[in-house]
Amino acid sequence: MSTPRLEIDLAKLAHNAKKLSELYGAKGIKLTAVTKAVCGSPQVARVFLDNGIRSLGDSYIANIQHMRESGLEAQYMLLRSPKVSEVQQVVEFTDISLNSELVVIHLLGECAVKLGKVHRVILMVELGDLREGILPSEIHSMVKEILDMPGIQLAGVGTNLACFGGVKPTERNMNELSTIAEEIQDTYGISLEFISGGNSANYQWFMSSTVVGLVNHLRIGEALLLGMDTTTHEPIPGLYSDAFTLVAEVIECKTKPSKPYGDIGHDAFGNTPVFPDKGNMRRAILSIGRQDVDISAIHPTVKVEILGASSDHLILDAGDTALDVGTEVRFGVTYSTLLRAITSPYVEKVYLV
Ligand SMILES: *Cc1c(COP(=O)(O)O)cnc(C)c1O
Repeated sequence: MSTPRLEIDLAKLAHNAKKLSELYGAKGIKLTAVTKAVCGSPQVARVFLDNGIRSLGDSYIANIQHMRESGLEAQYMLLRSPKVSEVQQVVEFTDISLNSELVVIHLLGECAVKLGKVHRVILMVELGDLREGILPSEIHSMVKEILDMPGIQLAGVGTNLACFGGVKPTERNMNELSTIAEEIQDTYGISLEFISGGNSANYQWFMSSTVVGLVNHLRIGEALLLGMDTTTHEPIPGLYSDAFTLVAEVIECKTKPSKPYGDIGHDAFGNTPVFPDKGNMRRAILSIGRQDVDISAIHPTVKVEILGASSDHLILDAGDTALDVGTEVRFGVTYSTLLRAITSPYVEKVYLV
């Protein structure tokens, strides 16, 4: 097998999907599995669909298109507010999109009418994290317009927290979302299919709440893929956090000084590095670098220390670990490396079944 490669254990992902859909399902919460961190991998998406989830969400139309064209039957949800320039593809390839701009919803409606379709929208509400969302004070006027709009159906309301501002989902902001949903349902005599409370960061809120209010939907990526509670960066009990393993190969291993010598200027990234003098050490170089991984988000499974990396070389203090040229070194990964490695064309993806 070639290196570097990302090994993806589909049985572990199946386990995570089953466990999380049971856990949340027990309090009436349905999940959309978020596939953006695996670039809409049809192999991964299929595992989610086979294990209790029937809705797939992604931020990229290209990923959704790819999953659809791979024959995966699901409800497809576009998570990132549609670009004006992609309205037609949104209506064509997705069933539902998350929205916060009336002009865009208008365009989606016009396009849906033209194509003889009805496009469903979830209105995103700002509850403090300050990424996407309309202010609660503007919801009513917006809902009114949407309900009269040809080609558009209001499928629900949602919010997104813990992504930009680090604001945690709590009983307070989740109750606020429930109240907003209730007011819309009562005022207009409609029933909203989705009251979408957030993402993987909703785990603590969910575990500590006896009642979840009207929240009946979450969009979950990292918890499914990496078994992580993203508010604490602790593993979620009972889930696998090692479904993904990065494998890289030693291309040089030599005993050399620990401290660079000569006149010191900038490194490849404009920093002036400082290394302590620990005498001679066994240094191994792996053929992977910052173009493919975030070196602060990889964890070697053998006893070595990561000293640093350039775009294409990763430097290790090998200590007493045997790392002959040609040896494979395995790493656990967290989210930012998963993103980079999955996106890198230089990292082979290997599915273990
Ligand atoms: C990425 C994203 C998610 C999933 O986030 P995770 O932390 O991976 O669970 C959910 N909702 C929206 C709007 C997103 O952009």
